[in-house]
Amino acid sequence: MKKLKGIGVYSDIAIGKCSVWKNSFLLYPEYKISKKDVNGEINRLDEAIKKTIDEITILKENLKESAGEEYADIFNFHISLLQDENLRNETAKIIKNEKLNVESSLKKIVLKIGKIFGKEENDFLKDRRRDILDVVERIVSNLRKTPVTKVFKEEEIIVAHDLSTTQIVSLNRKFVKGFITDIGSETSHIAIIARALEIPSVIGVGNATEEVQNGDNLIIDGEEGIVIVNPVGSVINKYKRKKEELKKRKRRIYFLKKLPSRTNDGRYIKFLANIEFPEEIVSAEKNGYDGIGLYRTEYLYINRKNLPTEEEQFLAYKNIAEKVGKKPIIIRTIDIGGDKLIPNISGKKELNPFLGWRGIRFCLDRKDIFKSQIKAILRASVYGNIKIMFPMIATLEEVREGKKIVNEAKENLKKEKKEYKDVELGVMIEIPSAVFISDKLAKEVDFFSIGSNDLIQFTLAVDRLNEKITNLYQPCHPSVLKMIKITIDNAKKNGISVGICGEMASIPEIACLLVGMGIDELSMAPFLIPTIKEVIINSKYEKLKKISEEVFKFDTNDKIVEFLKKKLKGD
Ligand code: PEP
Ligand code: MG
Repeated sequence: MKKLKGIGVYSDIAIGKCSVWKNSFLLYPEYKISKKDVNGEINRLDEAIKKTIDEITILKENLKESAGEEYADIFNFHISLLQDENLRNETAKIIKNEKLNVESSLKKIVLKIGKIFGKEENDFLKDRRRDILDVVERIVSNLRKTPVTKVFKEEEIIVAHDLSTTQIVSLNRKFVKGFITDIGSETSHIAIIARALEIPSVIGVGNATEEVQNGDNLIIDGEEGIVIVNPVGSVINKYKRKKEELKKRKRRIYFLKKLPSRTNDGRYIKFLANIEFPEEIVSAEKNGYDGIGLYRTEYLYINRKNLPTEEEQFLAYKNIAEKVGKKPIIIRTIDIGGDKLIPNISGKKELNPFLGWRGIRFCLDRKDIFKSQIKAILRASVYGNIKIMFPMIATLEEVREGKKIVNEAKENLKKEKKEYKDVELGVMIEIPSAVFISDKLAKEVDFFSIGSNDLIQFTLAVDRLNEKITNLYQPCHPSVLKMIKITIDNAKKNGISVGICGEMASIPEIACLLVGMGIDELSMAPFLIPTIKEVIINSKYEKLKKISEEVFKFDTNDKIVEFLKKKLKGD
């Protein structure tokens, strides 16, 4: 028995025999053709491309039905590549000039693409390269009349170096219980599709195809990102129980979704989702969200060479607004900097990037970029309940300056005769200085959202990414809790709402404490909403309020955590 670790993609368990897929795609025979065969060979290419377009169009339709249009749109790139003359003409050129068969000519193209993308790829480029390979693989399989996906006869778990998006969509779910791959990242297309199709899977295992033999028994734990090879009986039983538990949890989620978001004694709390990609709204919806508490927009800017245009951003925000409907969406203006840099724009790597040219500081220096984002958000607000939030606020001037840009953006839109709506404006409270002027800030804005991830980092001077000092990263340090209390009280005194969108909101005991302190909204990763909602709706606000008053009797993080656990047990 051995254990492998990767990234869990979909929280379910699969148990069964595996089949290891070795990719032989580039191993087909290479041969020369004569001059008179050139046209025939190009005809073979054209026919195979046509067949591949038909095939992928069918897969796209199937995926649209099973997972939704936004997933199916992943295949637009495949289809456009096949319809684009470039791939066809480049291949035809090699056939003609080098007198090579189609398969070998395509192989040359694949190798060339590999070189262009290089080794230091980001996820976006990796997906693109994988999609190109996927397309070529399908053309070759149509040329050689061999299926890309095998015909299944019995249930199995697939172990592969990598799977393409079209392969995953064509898997016969009657037989395929799950899959693991050597490569892949959290946000890669295979992860997105496997999640949408609810396939238990662990990706990015590293060397699964080496560690696992054909016919081995496997357990895939898609929640923890663990693969167990040839498990003993007791372990199999444990995971069978876990599978049952997960099934029950899913049923519970279904009922929880229908229950009102309020404590046992009637105080309403909003359970919101933090998202980075529009695709995550599907998961938020499934988990019963009350709105989006934090839409991190940096991902529209990074992983690309140029800046997104106002129009492109408008369409992205509009798309989200239409999906979310009447529920609120807090769009955070770009929090570029720190660990998220825009190539060519963020400038040289800084010595202290987390304290550097980032968030609102960057935006106020690059008003052109900032204003184009604000204009896009204002235009999209016509389609939903959108609010704007500024990150990394340290001073009052920054908020006032930011509001000025919002007003200028509105003036510009008026002149351009583009529709927009007045939206609520809020700030993140994630820097200690903002906490201590929160009485003044509250008079400038419509809401606060506490960014506890950074607030802890800046309060305790503890780098949130440094593994050596995780013991100092203390959410319940009395100073952090006092800051949160000050912020909530100042929001209340000024009649504005206050939420929290850092990880603290999704730790059950702390979520209870925050509700007791008077927080209005808890925002977290979509999949954590049911767990937190269940704890809160089964608690009494009056009791949580008392606990939150008592908490300051204790002087260390550990004592406070211990106190909370004891008090909330059996609540
Ligand atoms: C935070 O700082 O708590 C927060 C939610 O923002 P980010 O994690 O994106 O910095
Ligand atoms: Mg932050």
